[in-house]
Amino acid sequence: MPARYARSRETKAKRNFREQGELIETSRELTLAWEFVIMSNRIFDMRLAQLNEKPEVFYSLQGEGTSAGSPAMFLRLAGCNLHCMWCDTKHAQKGGIECTPQEVVKLLSYQQGWDRLVVTGGEPLLQGKELEALFSLLPEEVKIEIETNGTVAPTPVLIERVTMWNVSPKLAYAESGRKMLILDVFRSLSNAWYKFVVRGEEDWAEVGALQLPKERIMLMPCAADRERYRALLPEVAQMCVRHGVRLSMRLHVELWDTEPGR
Ligand code: SF4
Repeated sequence: MPARYARSRETKAKRNFREQGELIETSRELTLAWEFVIMSNRIFDMRLAQLNEKPEVFYSLQGEGTSAGSPAMFLRLAGCNLHCMWCDTKHAQKGGIECTPQEVVKLLSYQQGWDRLVVTGGEPLLQGKELEALFSLLPEEVKIEIETNGTVAPTPVLIERVTMWNVSPKLAYAESGRKMLILDVFRSLSNAWYKFVVRGEEDWAEVGALQLPKERIMLMPCAADRERYRALLPEVAQMCVRHGVRLSMRLHVELWDTEPGR
């Protein structure tokens, strides 16, 4: 792992502070200087999920939603405001590796020729300003999808730039730590789709009560491994037929089972 990824925010802040060569005598000035340095870093650094001690960036196929099957570059960010019981990316809920947007662009360029970026998490919108900085460095023709739990508002700049919002609200059984919420801003976007992870018919009442446009609702089985996925898929498919909504596959589970980073 390159040494720079391993540096903590505090270490980086200390280094910047030392490089500035500022000699600040009083504790009040020192406090202000620290706050400035730490704020500066907060503006420019992103926090990426860490897998096998490396930032989680990989090239694969989109596994879910309306673009399932499309080749895409994946970027997983660290940090989440929920704590879902069945979360299959628990390693991304906290911690992570700090990188500048420029460093993230370098990471993404390990593979050439891609034109679709899927940003997932964690909850990526917790890093909205950082994502703005990253996207400003990408070619305009790159299509950007953001996977979100629907509880954090995107910035106006992101609304303008993002191609597709994959909103995945968490139903009560997820025990996410907060009442299910879809911010109105997503309801107003014509490029937002709603993916619900369901166990079976018992979850429909909660989905139906949201009164979302049916053509934008997708159901997918609550299954992190292939065996459970295959067992549940026919039942979820029947739910979709019964209620007139779409079925979302989870191709990565079907193809690669529980293998991470795929
Ligand atoms: S919102 Fe997503 S990443 Fe966060 S805890 Fe729930 S399943 Fe995990």
